[in-house]
Amino acid sequence: MFRFAQCDNRVRGAFVFMIPEIEELYQEVILDHSRRPRNFGELPDAAVRVHGDNPACGDEIHLAVKFDAGGGLEDIKFSGHGCAISQASASLMTMKLKGKSRAEVMKMLRAFHDLVTEGTSEAPKALGDLRVMQGVRKFPQRVKCAMLAWRAVEQALEQGVGEATVSTELA
Ligand SMILES: [Zn+2]
Repeated sequence: MFRFAQCDNRVRGAFVFMIPEIEELYQEVILDHSRRPRNFGELPDAAVRVHGDNPACGDEIHLAVKFDAGGGLEDIKFSGHGCAISQASASLMTMKLKGKSRAEVMKMLRAFHDLVTEGTSEAPKALGDLRVMQGVRKFPQRVKCAMLAWRAVEQALEQGVGEATVSTELA
């Protein structure tokens, strides 16, 4: 279902030695979601499917979205493989976004991007469990792993129907 990329060992080591206790709890949540991803699988009646690729780490995600009458995310599922961060981020994201309106998804996307890139900002409470990904900002090369699923959902909203691909590397 997933594999640990080589770089995960370095991240785990750094978590253990460098960050305070509270972030060890975060680490547990990330490992739990990477081992038992939620909303993992196929979505047969999906309106749009996005294949996301993060060549820097080898992460791949297939995101499938079904919209409700108002354009909100009625259902969302993913499959794929990659490092623990990419899989946990996708799992946490689908839990958070299911049932949300288009506007709420875009707001969450911006807040999550700030969470994993801005060194100083406080994590907004609205992000809930997604805040466990905050530690990623200490590992700039892993931000793409954390953002992969979000880039895919952004593309899914833009595309609306059919199939699309997205990459963390600019073309
Ligand atoms: Zn990765």
